[in-house]
Amino acid sequence: MTFAIHGLAVARGIAIGRAVLVASSRVDVAHYFVTPEQIPAELERLTKAREAVQQELQALHDNLPKDAPPELSAILEVHLMMVQDTMLADGVASWVSDRLYNAEWALTSQLDVVARQFDEMDDPYLRERKGDLEQVVERLLRYIKGEVQTVSTTPKRISATKQQDLQLEDAMDVPLVLVAHDLSPADMLQFKKSVFTGFITDVGGKTSHTAIVARSLDIPAVVGARSASQLVRQDDWIIIDGDAGVVIVNPSPIILAEYSFKQRQAELERERLSRLRHTPSVTLDNQRVELLANIEMPEDAPQALDVGAVGVGLFRSEFLFMGREGALPDEEEQFAAYRRAVEGMKGLPVTIRTVDIGADKPLDRTPKDEAHLNPALGLRAIRWSLADPAMFLTQLRAILRAAAHGQVNLLIPMLAHKSEIEQTIALLNQARVQLDARGVPFGPLKIGAMIEIPAAAISAKMFLRYFDFLSIGTNDLIQYTLAIDRADESVAHLYDPLHPAVLRLVADTIAEAKAQNKSVCVCGEMAGDPSLTRLLLGLGLRSFSMHPTQILAVKQEVLRADASRLAIWAQEVVQSDEPALLMGA
Ligand code: PEP
Ligand code: MG
Repeated sequence: MTFAIHGLAVARGIAIGRAVLVASSRVDVAHYFVTPEQIPAELERLTKAREAVQQELQALHDNLPKDAPPELSAILEVHLMMVQDTMLADGVASWVSDRLYNAEWALTSQLDVVARQFDEMDDPYLRERKGDLEQVVERLLRYIKGEVQTVSTTPKRISATKQQDLQLEDAMDVPLVLVAHDLSPADMLQFKKSVFTGFITDVGGKTSHTAIVARSLDIPAVVGARSASQLVRQDDWIIIDGDAGVVIVNPSPIILAEYSFKQRQAELERERLSRLRHTPSVTLDNQRVELLANIEMPEDAPQALDVGAVGVGLFRSEFLFMGREGALPDEEEQFAAYRRAVEGMKGLPVTIRTVDIGADKPLDRTPKDEAHLNPALGLRAIRWSLADPAMFLTQLRAILRAAAHGQVNLLIPMLAHKSEIEQTIALLNQARVQLDARGVPFGPLKIGAMIEIPAAAISAKMFLRYFDFLSIGTNDLIQYTLAIDRADESVAHLYDPLHPAVLRLVADTIAEAKAQNKSVCVCGEMAGDPSLTRLLLGLGLRSFSMHPTQILAVKQEVLRADASRLAIWAQEVVQSDEPALLMGA
């Protein structure tokens, strides 16, 4: 049966493929593909886990205290039966053999299949046995996880995925679409260069970091699709319309043909835009506009150069810190990564933002019950850095050292207080002194502040006394101005870049920087939205930083714009109670 699911459009384009479900509550389970040669070893891991859990349950059962309630013994017997049950074991084995899933992924995939069968049972007693099955699978997963920890010391999820991807690509010619309840930004990063042609998640807002990474992958994606992971079944045919935020499940041949046509049109449009790569980014009235790239990893630099970015306006350094089970990268590792980014940009400037950990970018997956109540307002970004000066100094030294190899700007996230600015500058000086004392070379830096908190936007004048440049992080500025969690799909409809209060803060920050002859950039998602390019140009913005995938579409807008004529209109938009109504004007 064909049906559609509506979510939020986060990464443009059309993807058509078969669904691969990542079981929701167990996202902390490693998902990677094994090679055909590794199948026997993977099956062996499962057999061992089954035998161990069976022994464990039998021992529990045999050693039950005499006064234990009789139900306990019955439950353990049910669990024992389930471990031995062929429906589970054979199903899991075929996920490994036929699909090349790793053991944990195979277990959770089969759990999904069997759990659905339980859900459909009429007998309430049998339906409730689903919980038992989940517990048994948890036990197996825990055993496997323990085994992995003792056998291997390095987290190998990312490299394992990357290594296997190509082989899988060779082995399978059907495009795959990933469907999950939620994916952390680190998970998402893991899927870079993966086999998936599209992503769907139940949760997430348009500017959640998961959505941002999806966009940087340039793969159609829909987030906030509510119960997609419940409604879609393994192997269903899926169309993702990343422009409309719609997912079509099991499309009819007519719908499929229509979307295949749209997909080809989009490819043609891309090709057309790619011709603008070497065209200078200049408005009709000869205003130069700097189009910079946002990157997550040094390896993204070639993509930025490919689309003609004139530098990196935002290197989100926190991605070097995430998905490593809390182990922080040391100075050498960071220095090597920053240097790779600088050298990768071949002499163009690279703006490295100090680590922005916290909120929807935890260092590692924090179980929900351990998470802080209001992480977006908690120890995040510069607050996190200042709370651990040794960690922060390590990062500052690494960035200073990278600056000896090219043009580097340092960008500080989420500042609000004068005291934070002064502490940051003092630590930067201390980092220089430390490097001097060690005789390690470092280079000059321009330092900039992100304007992401309304307090910072209102204090732009004060900020400019300390900083060489400002960079407006509209994703957070909108979140904090409108009190809307950017990662929460239930309030996504209120997340409005065109709210008059947001526009006023953006306009005033740009005007203040210009008045003081300092440069100002927008590096939030607003900068990469071609429908907002004219407005930002009209407000005087001449520096935009965005995902490489957006650069050519924004350049097209720049080339068609007359910035001086847009200025009057932009002021009218900012002063209006309903700016959206004037946007088409
Ligand atoms: C922003 O807040 O706009 C920004 C660019 O930073 P991030 O999206 O990483 O929070
Ligand atoms: Mg931000």
